[in-house]
Amino acid sequence: MNDHDSAKQDAGINTRLSHIGPNPRDFHGFVNPPVVHASTVLFPDARTMENRAQKYTYGTRGTPTTDALCEAIDELEGSAGTILVPSGLAAVTVPFLGFLSAGDHALVVDSVYFPTRHFCDTMLARLGVTVDYYDPEIGAGIEALMRPNTKLVHTEAPGSNTFEMQDIGAICAVAHRHGAVVSMDNTWATPIYFKPLDFGVDISIHAATKYPSGHSDVLFGTVSANAAHWERLHDTQITLGTCASPDDSYQILRGLRTMGIRLERHQHSALELAAWLEGRDDVAAVLHPGLPSFPGHAIWKRDFKGASGIFSIVLEGGAPDRHKAKAHAFLDALRYFGLGYSWGGFESLAVHVGLGDRRIRKAPAEGPVLRLQIGLEDIKDLKADLERALSAAAAV
Ligand SMILES: *Cc1c(COP(=O)(O)O)cnc(C)c1O
Repeated sequence: MNDHDSAKQDAGINTRLSHIGPNPRDFHGFVNPPVVHASTVLFPDARTMENRAQKYTYGTRGTPTTDALCEAIDELEGSAGTILVPSGLAAVTVPFLGFLSAGDHALVVDSVYFPTRHFCDTMLARLGVTVDYYDPEIGAGIEALMRPNTKLVHTEAPGSNTFEMQDIGAICAVAHRHGAVVSMDNTWATPIYFKPLDFGVDISIHAATKYPSGHSDVLFGTVSANAAHWERLHDTQITLGTCASPDDSYQILRGLRTMGIRLERHQHSALELAAWLEGRDDVAAVLHPGLPSFPGHAIWKRDFKGASGIFSIVLEGGAPDRHKAKAHAFLDALRYFGLGYSWGGFESLAVHVGLGDRRIRKAPAEGPVLRLQIGLEDIKDLKADLERALSAAAAV
């Protein structure tokens, strides 16, 4: 271990984010790794080629750029290995394809990211895999849903759009007793605020499109495995050929350097706005695990080190036939919040959430659900924007 490595071990998170990844001395002292564009890698002679006896052999199998990012993610996740894929959705589908076969059964949380459900209900169904959805707050009660052929339990906490928390440790204990692999979509917390592998998760999934990118301009996914599951995950990546581009890999490593301080700001602004919104009569509920009133707050406080910048509000909706008009009035009155999908970028966003896919955790009855991504703007401007939007909704 050199000075560069030993300095990382017990340092604070922002120090670690500044120093994770390859040693600059390994590439002429340049602070950042080179962006290597590669398909072909040359071998010096026939014997080396036949035995593939060199570190890099072909572009799909990794380059110094992708290795730099994988090394950084492994240090944050505490994982044995990480694969890089072209989107957050691919970070879900690639391990699902790797760990499930025809005849298998999988358990997926009902508050799952919708495209994950779509993949399960269409492609996995076609491939002969049965999927059941479970209540996010099931905890150890998942025991009752395990079948002899249950091979994968997929978790996501907090849940997409409604932010239900899950007792990840309790679910892992049950799943492992039954020989099932546990995957977790940890996009909301990032490895800075939650480390899935420390709680027993085998496969940690991230849409790096969100906070690691941070600038709404890169689509990217990472999947990290513990030692027992790394070989199979890696084989799956090689078999499917779902590799990530060097430029995007570079941008994600670049984004990690500032992710800690960006998250602090997202967290602070989001919590302040969430608490303020909770006190208003025109808001029926605020769905944010960091609020003491939220049902999953105790689990969040016990297991997570922080909260990121996305949560939802439920408007006081009045009669059900007015909910959509109120949601649209709210959105159309916003000036700084953009109307758009995704989150984790520097700019605030709002979206009217549809929860029609839910089987167990149905949409709240009080009114429309609006998801807010709190960006890096000044809080007073965002507050004024939300105040304007709430007035517009109240006027409907
Ligand atoms: C956005 C998101 C994804 C997918 O990421 P893309 O890069 O947009 O495909 C997966 N999981 C969660 C929880 C997300 O929010």
